[in-house]
Parts: sequence; C-alpha cells; structure tokens
Amino acid sequence: MTAALDVLVVGAGPTGLALAAQLRAHGGDFRIVDRSLDRVRESRALAIQPRTLEALAGFGVTDELVKRGNPAVQLRMHLPGRVVQMALFSGELTDTPYSFLLFLSQAETESVLAECLEAEGVTVERGTELLRLERQGGYVTCRLRRRQDGREETVRARYVVGCDGAHSTVRSEAGIDFLGSAYPQTFLLADLEADGLEPGVAHTFMTDAGMLFFFPLGKPATWRMLAMRPPGSPGAEVTLGLMQEIVDRYADEELRLRDPVWMTDFRLHRRGATHYRSGPFFLAGDAAHIHSPAGAQGMNTGIQDALNLGWKLALVCRGAAPQELLETYEAERAPVGRRVLRFTDRAFTIATSRNPVLRLARVQLAPRIAPLALRASGLRNRVFRTVSELDIHYRRSPVSVGSRAFRNGPRAGDRLPDLPHGLQSRTAGPGCHLLLTGPHHLWPDQRIAPVICGREDLISVHRLGAESPWPDVAQGLVRPDGYLGYVARGLQLEGLHAYLNRWLPS
Ligand SMILES: Cc1cc2nc3c(=O)[nH]c(=O)nc-3n(C[C@H](O)[C@H](O)[C@H](O)COP(=O)(O)OP(=O)(O)OC[C@H]3O[C@@H](n4cnc5c(N)ncnc54)[C@H](O)[C@@H]3O)c2cc1C
Repeated sequence: MTAALDVLVVGAGPTGLALAAQLRAHGGDFRIVDRSLDRVRESRALAIQPRTLEALAGFGVTDELVKRGNPAVQLRMHLPGRVVQMALFSGELTDTPYSFLLFLSQAETESVLAECLEAEGVTVERGTELLRLERQGGYVTCRLRRRQDGREETVRARYVVGCDGAHSTVRSEAGIDFLGSAYPQTFLLADLEADGLEPGVAHTFMTDAGMLFFFPLGKPATWRMLAMRPPGSPGAEVTLGLMQEIVDRYADEELRLRDPVWMTDFRLHRRGATHYRSGPFFLAGDAAHIHSPAGAQGMNTGIQDALNLGWKLALVCRGAAPQELLETYEAERAPVGRRVLRFTDRAFTIATSRNPVLRLARVQLAPRIAPLALRASGLRNRVFRTVSELDIHYRRSPVSVGSRAFRNGPRAGDRLPDLPHGLQSRTAGPGCHLLLTGPHHLWPDQRIAPVICGREDLISVHRLGAESPWPDVAQGLVRPDGYLGYVARGLQLEGLHAYLNRWLPS
C-alpha cells in the first residue's frame, strides 16, 4: 500500500474543484477523484453571486468567468396586460468589484475551474469511484474502483471530503443523516432557443396558473427555460411539444421554441446534513445541503464551503495550524447552510403555492409592490446583500477575535470589503494578510518582525497608510478565504501575537 495521503477529495463538481484549488494554493497533499468519465456538460446552476466571484479571484479565474458570462442581466416580469422591468444588482453594491449577478452555465464554470487546476498541475482522476470508507487507526482506508477496467485500489488518507453531491457516498459511509423532504411539485427544464423573446434579459411570466422563467444562458443554448409541470401532464415525457404547450398556456406573447440541447424533469428537495464533519470525514456542497434553485444559492454555497475548508485542512496537515481549526468549519458553514435552506424554502413556497392568498400576492401584489419597495435603498441594499452572499459573516466563530477596530469598517468575522477598490486584489494571494492602518512610520519592520517570526511564508504584511478608508490606527488579519480573523485598534501587537500563537503557532 502506498503512503497515506493528507486529503482525498471525492467529487469534482464545482465544490470539489474549488476545494482542490484551495488545497493546492495552500500546499495541501491530496487527490481528487470523480466517478463520471467526463465533466458535466449540462447547464444546471446558471448564476454566480458576487461573493463567489470575489472568493475565486485569488485563483485568477474570475476575469475568465466574467468574460464568458453575462453580467448585465435585467429581470422582466410579464404580467397579464403589462410588463415590469427590474435591475439585478447592477452597480448597487459599492464595496465589491463584482456588483452584478453573473449568468454563466455550470458547465462553463466547471470548465474554468478545471483549466485552472490543470495549469497548476492537478489531475482530476475521472472514472474513479469511491466505494467504501473505513476508519483504521489514525487513517481512513478508502476503496476506489476505476470504471474503465474495474480495477480496485485502496488508498489511505488522513481526511476525506465528500463533495460528491446529493447522494453522497461519503455522507452515508460516515453515518451522517440528511434530513428533510421533497417538494411535491415536478419541474421541467430545457436549454433551447426561443424566438420572440428579447435577448440578454431574464423573463418571468407570472400567471394564476403558474410561473414560467427564461434565463439568458448563452451556452450551450441561448435560453434556460424553467416551469412547474402543469396539473394534468404528470409523467408525460419531456418533449419540445410539451414545453411549447406550457409556453402557449403561460405567456401572452407569441413565442416559438426550437433546438433543445437538454430537457429534463426533476423534483426538488430541501435537505441538510445533521453534521458537516464526523471525525476525519467532511461534507461540502450538495452533499451537505440541497434546496430549490430560488435565489441561485446552491452552487455558490458549495463553492464557499470548499473555500472555507480548503485552507484549514491544508494548514492543519502541514502542521501550521492546530486540529481545533478544523472544528470551525462546521461552526462557520452549518449556519450558512441552514440559512440558505430557510431562505430558499420561503421563496419557493411563495413562488409555487396554490393557496389563494399567496396566489393573489404573487400575481397581483408582488409585481406591483416589489419594484416600488426596491426603490427604497435600505431595503434594496439588504435584499441584494443577502442574495449576493456578501453579508455572510463568521462573527461568532471561535477563530474570529477582536474588538470593533475600524470605525464604520468590518469586524472580526466579516469579509474584507473592497474599499478602497483594489484592497481585495492586494490580499487575494494564498495565505493570510496582515493589514496595518495609520501612518507608515508607526509600523517599522522591527515592530512587526517578532510577531510574524516563523510564519513569514504564511503572512504577508500590508501597510495601508493614506490608502486606508478607516481613520484609526489598527491591525486586521485577513484569512485565506477573505474574512477577517483578528482585528484590534492601536499599536499594541500582544493580542495579535497571542492570536497567531493560538491559531498559527510557529
Ligand atoms: C437539473 C438541475 C438544475 C439545477 N439548477 C440550478 C440552478 O439554477 N442554480 C443553482 O444554484 N443550482 C442549481 N442546481 C444545483 C447545482 O447544480 C448544485 O448545487 C451543484 O452542482 C453542487 O455542486 P457539488 O459540486 O456540490 O455537487 P455535484 O455537482 O453534484 O458534483 C458531485 C460530483 O461527485 C461525483 N460523485 C458522486 N458520487 C461519487 C463517488 N462515490 N465517487 C466518486 N465521485 C462521485 C459526481 O460524479 C459529481 O461529479 C441544479 C441541479 C440540477 C440537477
């Protein structure tokens, strides 16, 4: 048997690919396997949130994602007799370089992530399925099978991360429950061409009978169509004819569907893992939470799970951080997963309920009130920050320490805002970043060096001086995933030193 690996990543969907990128950037020793022989070619998730674009920028992939996607999508609501148009984010969020929802098919997102890994020399071992896991001593014995020749292999790993989707083998081998239920409705989905729709805009047709959506995809087809299967057609095969029938029923306008690339029907579930970790096993992405696509949160939440976990695993395996750091993964990400389940469940219930009051609210009131309500900048800001995932924070995490150091600025556990613009890109490289505000001369090397000593390869120092948006003299340590771990006001570095000794002992 070969020497033990630090980490086996099971699954190379968006979550596994992002985890591999983060492990690689932080010197992790890992393998990544996926049972399918090829990457996903289907569109599936179709939008990337601003926070995900920020978080992926450190790998140098965000520009490519933006180049391939559509960042300027407006939402057009077609109501009986009239049309209401609304912007989606569009420049409202001033503390991020990505103030837009990027429409891009999941296949393209995975392709960009896979190319990034390839350039880093990481091989995704396709056609390799995880069969079984067994804990033995301090290791996990993993049984793998190659699909092409049926050959089996046993690998020993210190940790196994299940990025293996809703039917996760890792989850069931780890004995972690996945609680929740399926929604009763069935949905129809197609990537196709549609004549008669204005391009580059997301369209919603809201009628008493139900809702119909067209999202601009670009690739592999111009449009993603999504609708609830109407009563009376249960089980009927998904054909272009059925999709056209739905369009004729829900849309006032003359729309012609053609050239479908992919059509399917599916049921949605709302389920969450009872734990994100059990001993050496971790879950991330759909293996940990599945929900309705309302709000485009699924893939985004998975990628951010991965970016939270990757650096922690790599540093613990390298001996640069204590085991307790791994406990903060569930502490930080499980509340985010639960919040996404609640939020998407509410949105889904309002969008699909047959309850007469909710139907009236959906078709008559919401389309009139929503654009007006969203003109109130406070409410609009709150909604956008929630959906964009920019408001996720880890303030209650054991690894978030410190006072309110920056007036009107971030607290320990908050993401580092991009203020001034360019601050995020300066701190996007691997490792931690120590931000020092106040005049440069207050932070001579001889003051910093003893604190950083022995961790020089892990911590980059940035003296912001006049560039700082905050007037105070303060210190902030930015974690590798872009969140502030430690903040303090003033020149005293004892607190920072103690924090580093606790979480990054030299
Ligand atoms: C029809 C459809 C439409 C969707 N639409 C949207 C949307 O509009 N918006 C949105 O946000 N989300 C959407 N989603 C959900 C989105 O696709 C998922 O949230 C996302 O793919 C999760 O990524 P993941 O990497 O966690 O899991 P997955 O993408 O499921 O990847 C899991 C990987 O693990 C591999 N694997 C599984 N078991 C094993 C094993 N035993 N050994 C080795 N490999 C294994 C699989 O082959 C797969 O490649 C949609 C999903 C579907 C099915």
